[in-house]
Amino acid sequence: MNPTFTSLENFGHSLRAQSYVIQPCAADDIHETFQLAKRDGLTVTARGAGRSYNDAAMNGGGIVLDLSVMNQILAWDPATGQVRCEPGVTLRQLWSKILPDGWWPPVVSGTMTTTLGGCLAANIHGKNNFRMGPIGEHVTEFTAILPTGAEVACSPKKNADLFYAMISGLGMLGIFTSITMQMKKMHSGLLEVHALPTRTLAEHLQILESDAPKFDYIVGWLDCITVGHGQIHAANYLHEGEDPDAQKTMTLAYQTLPSRMFGVMPKSLLHVFMTPFMNNFGTWGVNTTKYVASLRRHVFRQSHAAFHFLLDYVPNWELSYGRSGLIQYQSFLPKETALHAWTEMLALAKQRGLPSYLGVTKRHRPDNFLLTHAVDGFSLAMDFKVTDANRARLYELTQDFDRIVLAAGGRFYFAKNSETTAETARAFYGEETVAKFRKLKKRCDPNGLLESDLYRRIFG
Ligand SMILES: Cc1cc2nc3c(=O)[nH]c(=O)nc-3n(C[C@H](O)[C@H](O)[C@H](O)COP(=O)(O)OP(=O)(O)OC[C@H]3O[C@@H](n4cnc5c(N)ncnc54)[C@H](O)[C@@H]3O)c2cc1C
Repeated sequence: MNPTFTSLENFGHSLRAQSYVIQPCAADDIHETFQLAKRDGLTVTARGAGRSYNDAAMNGGGIVLDLSVMNQILAWDPATGQVRCEPGVTLRQLWSKILPDGWWPPVVSGTMTTTLGGCLAANIHGKNNFRMGPIGEHVTEFTAILPTGAEVACSPKKNADLFYAMISGLGMLGIFTSITMQMKKMHSGLLEVHALPTRTLAEHLQILESDAPKFDYIVGWLDCITVGHGQIHAANYLHEGEDPDAQKTMTLAYQTLPSRMFGVMPKSLLHVFMTPFMNNFGTWGVNTTKYVASLRRHVFRQSHAAFHFLLDYVPNWELSYGRSGLIQYQSFLPKETALHAWTEMLALAKQRGLPSYLGVTKRHRPDNFLLTHAVDGFSLAMDFKVTDANRARLYELTQDFDRIVLAAGGRFYFAKNSETTAETARAFYGEETVAKFRKLKKRCDPNGLLESDLYRRIFG
């Protein structure tokens, strides 16, 4: 175990911090890291694939425990769909293993590069959150090492308080070492996707709400420049017998995203061609073209990988935002207040000349995890380009957004938002939840060894 002192960034490349990076290969290395941290007065942050948009997996001046090499699929039972994995297993590894046997992960993020440890710590949601809840609802057991040195096994029945707090707990209570989950049975490698244009924000939210019960997945693209223009994609699984080529469509060869555009240009270069459009005028042009092209309602079949991991189509797309990167602001609002609050926020962003270049909407339902971000309503994730010139104005905008979201009874997601303050976090979690979390923190981590830049920002 040789720590290396390295500069690490968040996914959006808007933050940077120097840390001692340790790559554990087994539980003993994790124990040793906690002992080292205690002896040298350092703090420890777990890191999976580093795909959080914010500072959740960053620890300036401290130790970053990079779990990406603990990435074995320990057990897979194609008869029952139960899988047990080390925390560094990525969603890509997982679906590649199980789809040829006719299964799919019940909840996935918009990129397949995330690790299961990172997904549990954030308690990720998919485009089916309104139906399937967050990933934590499909975990039957996990094992973890606490900073006290204790090794625990948790399930909804065993150590239930830890189960519901460590999942969603942003890696602040312990380190996941194995995760057992139930996968979902599939009868095809394809989904039937319905594409519907929307002309106003009100229509967009109305369709998300009224159509979600008819579908397995629903997600929207919202043009945040010509506010209200958008498109909704709603998808259903195919039932047994509906795909005559099911054996073929469930193969990896069929699902794997092509590495070249039009069979010629390497997609790894695509982000370079996107860069000139990453300004207010360029994005207006791209969005308007996309909207006009999406005006026709239509139905088509698409592979699971293409539907879920659209963002992985363009490798390193985040680099197109330029040297100072991007931030994502995702708010979750009750269905009763969403329209009013987002209308105000989108107008404010436009008025200040800081429109979001990508808006994505989803339908959600509440869950029982301690640091939950979900509501009975919708989420809107907005990507903003960061520059040296707009950084301070962008910060001010997000603070104004926070006030609007809080007043509307909304919530925030700490895999994404990088500007939320401790005061705002306390206000939306509520005193009771914060007190419960602090009590568990004291029990699991009496010496305060597990800390990240995010933890210091929202709980410090
Ligand atoms: C393109 C893109 C699309 C996305 N789409 C979605 C989406 O649709 N839905 C959604 O919910 N999120 C989405 N996300 C966010 C992403 O799913 C989360 O940030 C996720 O936590 C990242 O996983 P990771 O392995 O990269 O974890 P990291 O970013 O490395 O870490 C995230 C958190 O997990 C903790 N952690 C990591 N490993 C462990 C471990 N073994 N034990 C304890 N704690 C650990 C870290 O300390 C940190 O707090 C998206 C991100 C990107 C970049």
